[in-house]
Amino acid sequence: MLPTVPVPPQHVDDYAEAAGPEAVDRLRQAAESLRGARVLHVNSTAFGGGVAELLFTQVALMNDLGIDTTWQVIEGAEDFFTVTKFAHNGLQGAQVPWTPDMEAIYLDRCRSNAAGLAEGYDYVVIHDPQPAGVLGVLEEEGRRAGRWIWRCHIDLSAPHRPVLDFFTRRVAGYDGMVFTMREFAPPGLTGPRLFVIPPSIDPLSLKNGFVDHETAYEVLNRYGVDRARPILTQVSRFDPWKDPLGVIDAYRLARREHPGLQLLLVGSMAHDDPEGWHYLEVTETYREGDPDIYLLSNLQEVGHLEVNAFQRASTVVVQKSLREGFGLVVSEAMWKEVPVIGGDVGGIRLQIEDGVSGFLVSSVEECAERASELLSDPDLRMKMGRAGRERVRERFLTLRELEDYVRMLAAL
Ligand code: UDP
Repeated sequence: MLPTVPVPPQHVDDYAEAAGPEAVDRLRQAAESLRGARVLHVNSTAFGGGVAELLFTQVALMNDLGIDTTWQVIEGAEDFFTVTKFAHNGLQGAQVPWTPDMEAIYLDRCRSNAAGLAEGYDYVVIHDPQPAGVLGVLEEEGRRAGRWIWRCHIDLSAPHRPVLDFFTRRVAGYDGMVFTMREFAPPGLTGPRLFVIPPSIDPLSLKNGFVDHETAYEVLNRYGVDRARPILTQVSRFDPWKDPLGVIDAYRLARREHPGLQLLLVGSMAHDDPEGWHYLEVTETYREGDPDIYLLSNLQEVGHLEVNAFQRASTVVVQKSLREGFGLVVSEAMWKEVPVIGGDVGGIRLQIEDGVSGFLVSSVEECAERASELLSDPDLRMKMGRAGRERVRERFLTLRELEDYVRMLAAL
């Protein structure tokens, strides 16, 4: 049997203060017809990256709504996750190699993972490409039961064709598929019914809940960051699409005008992302020993509380992605009233209204200019910070996403 991720219980009513009591009532009503239904979520890691982050809250709250929900994680060796990382990059548009051997490694693992999947569920929600192939295996073996949904968190609008064609065949038999934005659905994918559901952040989690100044400063001290000088931060996996090298370039440009500036690059190492280790080294080399650039990760015990503290203590947060499914870190920082400069791509565009709740940028130079502008202007930072928090309250908190999910399941 595949491992099940235990999640501590949480209660929908506790969200009334952050999201408003009407949001709680609406959600309860929407969930009424699903009471007693059984839902299985499947992804490829219990820790690291946005999907694990989302499931932690969603699974707990679905159970609180009376929907019997379980979360299982597929298993894979390094060769499998190397192939799925190529697939991930290819689906986002990189010209990766894609060979029959790679397909065989992928399908082989899907077979063993399908054998370990829990049975008896009314709905199975499969997250991202890694576990997508298990449905095909169950169909071949005549064991398909329930409604199947493919929740794709990445942008498939401009994919590398051979990889897309392979995955199109894997997901053709699903009943529904969910994308963060309508534009992310690949041209020509027919079969599953299309739903659009942007992700959300949990305002009550250790990552996003309130942290007082003292705790935040204690965390900065622990990592040797100077609280008296301005801090620019990017929190994200070490991945070329997140462009940590571009962030270092932008920091170096902005530092000409703000000599005291420090840069925090905080990234967790997920076990389903073998490229992360390599890219951490590449970033470390690029740092060139600059003592004001901090490369931190869970290896230095940076957990949810620490990320929360770093985001809060930042003068400006950047998420200079070149491609981005959504970028939970953007909403996480906006919720904390910190101004965010984001790459003008994918889901970041949903979150930041350029010039109002943050800035959207398309180059290192633009990123540096906007950072400089914000670093020089405390009023602008405060104004954008406040607008950011409102934007997240309206659109990107947990209960809204849960309501969208529940409506989607009911529609299927
Ligand atoms: N994250 C974290 N520690 C880190 C780096 C990232 O907890 O060192 C979290 C981050 O706060 C966010 C998630 O991992 O909740 C990343 O999600 P996002 O959607 O931004 O990017 P993804 O990794 O899914 O591409």
